[in-house]
Parts: sequence; C-alpha cells; structure tokens
Amino acid sequence: MAIHERGLVEQERIIKKDRIVIDGVDASGDWNLIILPRVIDDYDLDFAKDIINHPQGKTINQCYQCSYCTASCPVHNYWDEKYNPRHFIYLARLGMLDELQKRADVIWRCVSCHKCTHRCPKGVLVEEVLKVIVNQMSKRGLIEEYPSKKFDKFFTESVIEYGRIEDGELLFGWMEKQGFNVMKDPILKKPIPFAGGLPDWLKSLAIKPLKGMNIDFLILNAKHMLIHPRTQNWNRFKQVLERVINEEGIMTH
Ligand code: SF4
Ligand code: SF4
Repeated sequence: MAIHERGLVEQERIIKKDRIVIDGVDASGDWNLIILPRVIDDYDLDFAKDIINHPQGKTINQCYQCSYCTASCPVHNYWDEKYNPRHFIYLARLGMLDELQKRADVIWRCVSCHKCTHRCPKGVLVEEVLKVIVNQMSKRGLIEEYPSKKFDKFFTESVIEYGRIEDGELLFGWMEKQGFNVMKDPILKKPIPFAGGLPDWLKSLAIKPLKGMNIDFLILNAKHMLIHPRTQNWNRFKQVLERVINEEGIMTH
C-alpha cells in the first residue's frame, strides 16, 4: 500500500507503540507498526460483472493496483484524499459495496481531467471505469444522485421543452430547485428575474454586467424570458430526442 494511502486503514486496525524498550534497549521505530487483518464476507461479485460487461468498464480487470492514477489525481491530492481512484477500483472488483457506499459523499467528484488514464501503465480507462462504478451504484440505489447530475437532468429537460437553452429559465428554475424563493408572474407563472431571494454571489455576479448592458438588449432578454419563442418544427425532433434518452437511460442514471 502506497504510503499516502495510510488513511484508508481504520485506526482500530493499526497497532503501533510510540516507544518500545526491549532488555533496556530503546527499539522504537516505524517497524513496530502492525495492521490487523480483516475478514470480508459481505461482497457482491455481480457488481464487478456489471462493470466489466459495460462497454466503458471492461478495462477494470487490467488494473494491478499500482496507484499511479491516485498519485496523479488532483481531486485526491488537492481536495480530499478520500477520493481515491485506485481504491474505488479495488473495492468495485471485490464487490465491496458497503465500503464503496461509505465514500458516497466523495465518489462523484472526478473533474474529468484524464490524468489518471494518461498515467495508467496498464491501459485502464480509469475515468470511464469510475463513471461506470458511480452509475452502477446509483442504479442500485447505493448513492444519491450527485449534484451535477441533477443539473444535467434539469438542463436536458429544458432543451427537450424548448429546443434550445432558455438561460433565464434554466438559471432561475435551478435556483428554485435549490430552495431559493423565486418570484413568478401571476399569469404565465414564469420567473421574474432578480425578484425574490437570490444568493449574494449571484447578485454580485450579475449586477455589474447588467449595469453596462444596452437597454434594448435587456428588454429583449426580459421578453424572451417571459414569452419563450418556440423552435420551429421542434415537436418531431423532440420525439426522437425523448426516444434516444429513454433507450439510453440518460435521465435515470
Ligand atoms: S494506474 Fe492503472 S493499474 Fe495503476 S492502480 Fe490506477 S488503474 Fe490500476
Ligand atoms: S479524471 Fe478524475 S479520477 Fe482521473 S485524475 Fe482526473 S479527477 Fe482524478
């Protein structure tokens, strides 16, 4: 086990005396560290099979646990050492779902930089494999949907509805989903920009550019936010898009 992964071992399984004196000789040192063995009896090998059978997950079996991926991962090194690609692969191959679940709060943090895949000496498509692990966990109800995935869904629903991105609706609709009080007009029930509770970061982000904006451009944007002109012939394409989404299961996992 690479030294930077020591934190993966539960404290209660580590025995180490600060000081050992044998026959009057101080024999203290790192050598006296003992890691107690553990017995694993709750595993699900079907989990690994599902990953291998997925087109993007089959390289998982090429992993020989060298940890190059983890050593190069910015999320592990600069954000949270609990995010550990090598360890996730190890747990997934053994079908240790309980252990994977313990890391549910960090497992979706990959920023898709591909450093891990670039460094892997065994040709494991690490990032793809990790995505399949997360998706399989989500399918089994072992992790909550991760926040960016929720946004992806909301974004896709908006495209299906209008045939393009409605910036205002997307922004304020998302704010509403986050629990902010977004005021809406009484007739069309569309959000009124910047009325209601908004986070301070959004106010400071928006006010400066708004001040410098041409008034005609502002009116045009406000009009679009309320009226939502439709993309021509969108309904036919919408049916095709919905079918692909259903077949691929994009909205469910
Ligand atoms: S670098 Fe590749 S072989 Fe090494 S632990 Fe990561 S995935 Fe496995
Ligand atoms: S792609 Fe994800 S797992 Fe790989 S190095 Fe980047 S952040 Fe880490």
